Amino acid sequence: MTDDAPPPVDQHARVVVIGAGQAGLSVGYHLRRLGLTPGNDLVLLDRAPSTGGAWQFRWEALRLGAAHSVHDLPGMNAMGLRFDDADRSRPARDVVGEYYRRFEQHYDLRVRRPVSVSSVSRVDGAEKLCVATRTADGGTARIAAEIVVNASGTWGTPFLPWYPGRDVFRGRQVDTTEYRSAKEFAGQDVVVVGGGTSAIGFLLELDGVAARTRWFTRRPVVWSEAPALDVESAVAAVDEQDRAARAGETLPSIVSGTGVPVSRRIRAGLDRGVLRESPMFTRLDETGVVTADGEHVHADAVIWATGFRADLRHLAPLHLRTAAGGIVVEDGRSVDEPRLFLAGYGPQASTIGANRAGRRIARQVMDVLAAS
Ligand code: FAD
Repeated sequence: MTDDAPPPVDQHARVVVIGAGQAGLSVGYHLRRLGLTPGNDLVLLDRAPSTGGAWQFRWEALRLGAAHSVHDLPGMNAMGLRFDDADRSRPARDVVGEYYRRFEQHYDLRVRRPVSVSSVSRVDGAEKLCVATRTADGGTARIAAEIVVNASGTWGTPFLPWYPGRDVFRGRQVDTTEYRSAKEFAGQDVVVVGGGTSAIGFLLELDGVAARTRWFTRRPVVWSEAPALDVESAVAAVDEQDRAARAGETLPSIVSGTGVPVSRRIRAGLDRGVLRESPMFTRLDETGVVTADGEHVHADAVIWATGFRADLRHLAPLHLRTAAGGIVVEDGRSVDEPRLFLAGYGPQASTIGANRAGRRIARQVMDVLAAS
């Protein structure tokens, strides 16, 4: 082999799907229906140990219900499965993990896990993209793919805003992905940051367990009388995501545009005064946070429930990032790398959006394959 020869490839596939959450499973389901064979010309990879996408990592207390609801995957109803019928007393992570497992088995999607995609790159002189993978035991492999569908979600890249003093605070700081249960904060003074459903869930769970909680948000929380979180009806929020994706900008938070539905549990929290937000503090110090009017709020712990960014680190070799911080994506396809699709990105970042992305992207992928 000369220095210039492309590195050896372990497998050739027509399509590689990165991630088997709602978006990846939806794409996989439609591609299979349209004629691709899972495990052979269609390869689905997921780095997580089990089924459920990011849902398998959600904290124990999270339940499906008014604030969190998962749309049925395409083809799920034909199996007799509906999330609406799921047991709401069980942790959402168990329910979603189980439903996705049955779905994958029923449609024989053959997801390979845990397999982490470390990079997607172009190879000089090759028409295919190279997908480099790594397994937990250190094994590596390379798959050459005509098309890559990235459906890697956001859970791997929680976003923490910078506030002065974040590095001097001596207490514990956790983000949403690190939160396990309120018990870890028993008897402590806890500051919760963020205006979404995660922050609200943490505050309700901490009530009566922590010594004291204080809640800080960048904007006043918009409460909604809708019966459940309805991301799709937030047309303006979804449109704004689409505009940002097309412009290659960092994506805004989608839930900030939807309002938070006031479930019975949230209503009770509001009535008890547990859910009373304060404007964002200006800095942290060694023992707590300091508000704009100079109040010092003691904290043993700060929980940053401040959202996520798209997890696209493995796409770095493609050099698609714009100066505005995003990737230019139109209708689920990268404009600068047409062999790359992004499912569950921007306006598709909800379980119903991911479903719709699956159908639209699968059709486009099949058109590309037919033309090649
Ligand atoms: P994920 O479920 O995150 O799946 C991505 C998959 O890709 C994961 O399994 C991961 O292991 C894998 N992966 C990532 N990187 C790699 C890699 N390099 N190599 C291999 N595999 C990789 N949406 C709703 O519609 N309703 C809700 O109630 C709701 N609640 C939410 C609550 C929280 C706390 C959060 C953070 C989000 C919530 N969302 C909700 C939005 C949610 O992100 C989507 O609904 C949906 O679950 C996302 O699906 P996905 O397939 O895009 O991503």
